[in-house]
Amino acid sequence: MGKKIDGKQIALQIRKEVQQKNEAFAAKYEMQPCLAVILVGNHPASLSYVQSKVKACKEVGMESRLIQLDAEVSEADLLKEIEKLNQDAYVDGILVQLPLPQHIHEDTVVYAIDPNKDVDGFHPINIGKMMLGVDTFYPCTPHGVIKMLEAISYDLCGKNVVVIGRSMIVGKPMAQLCLEQNATVTVCHSKTKDLTFYTKHADVIIVAVGKPLFLTEDQVSPGAVVIDVGINRNAKGKLVGDVDTESVLKVADYVTPVPGGVGPMTITMLLWNTIIAAERRVLAGTKNNHCFLG
Ligand code: NAD
Repeated sequence: MGKKIDGKQIALQIRKEVQQKNEAFAAKYEMQPCLAVILVGNHPASLSYVQSKVKACKEVGMESRLIQLDAEVSEADLLKEIEKLNQDAYVDGILVQLPLPQHIHEDTVVYAIDPNKDVDGFHPINIGKMMLGVDTFYPCTPHGVIKMLEAISYDLCGKNVVVIGRSMIVGKPMAQLCLEQNATVTVCHSKTKDLTFYTKHADVIIVAVGKPLFLTEDQVSPGAVVIDVGINRNAKGKLVGDVDTESVLKVADYVTPVPGGVGPMTITMLLWNTIIAAERRVLAGTKNNHCFLG
C-alpha cells in the first residue's frame, strides 16, 4: 500500500519559510511585500479563490489588495487598472483571477502585466525564460508539484515522467520543469492513442485533465509516484481529483490526495513568487517605501 503525500504539511513548511523571508524583508526595508489581486465579476469559485489568496497573504505577514471590478467592465478599463498597478511602486505582484468574462481577451490581459510583477508566471517573457532555464517566476501549480517531490526527497533525474494534460497553466510548464530536473518527459493529451501504454511505463504520472477519477489502478505500474492536479466535484458535490486515489494507492508508492495535495501548494508558490518579486524590485530600486510599517 502506497503513501499519501501530505500537501498541507509541505505547504505549511514553505509558508513558514515565506513568513521568515517576509519578516526579514520588513525588518530590513521597513515595508512589506504586496500582492494585488484583480477579480472581475463575482463568480463564487473565483471569489473563493481570491479570498483564499488574500487570507494566505495575511497569514504570512504580506500585504494584499483586492480589486473587484464589475463583470461588465470593458477590456480597456481593466487594462488601465493593470497599468496603474504596474506603475505603483508599492505593489510587487499582480494577479488577475482567471477565467475572465468572454468579452475580455485573457491573453491581452496577461500580456499587459509587468513581467517583473507577474507572480502567476504566465507572461510570455517569464514563460520564455522558463524554457531557457533562466531563473524567473514559475507558474505556481507546476512549481508546487516540483516542491512536493523535493519534500519527499524524490529525485527526478533519469526518471520517466508522464504528464497528462497540455494546458499553459499546468501541463506544458509542468513538463518543462521536469525536463529541467533531467527527467525524460512524455506529454499526453486528449489526442493521445493508448494512454495506458505511456502511464504503465512511467515512474511519475502527473495528471491535469479535469475529469473526476480519470486515472485508475490498472493504468499504473507498481512503485510509481502519482501526482493529482485535478480539482473536480463529483455527483454528490464532493471535491475529487483526476485520480482514483484509493485504488491507485494499492499499486503506487505515493499518491497526492484531493483535497490536501497539490491544491495548498499553488497558493503557497504564489506567496513565494511575491516575496521574490519584492526582493528583486528593492534590489533594482523599483519598489519604494512610501508605505512604512507601523
Ligand atoms: P484544461 O482543461 O486547460 O486542460 C485539460 C487537459 O487535459 C488538456 O490539455 C487535454 O488535452 C487533456 N485531456 C482531456 N481529456 C483527455 C483524455 N481523455 N486523455 C488525455 N488527456 C486529456 O485544464 P487545466 O487548466 O490544465 O486544469 C486541469 C485540472 O487541474 C482541472 O481539474 C483544474 O481544476 C485543475 N487545476 C488545479 C490546480 C491546483 O491548484 N490544484 C491549478 C490549476 C488547475
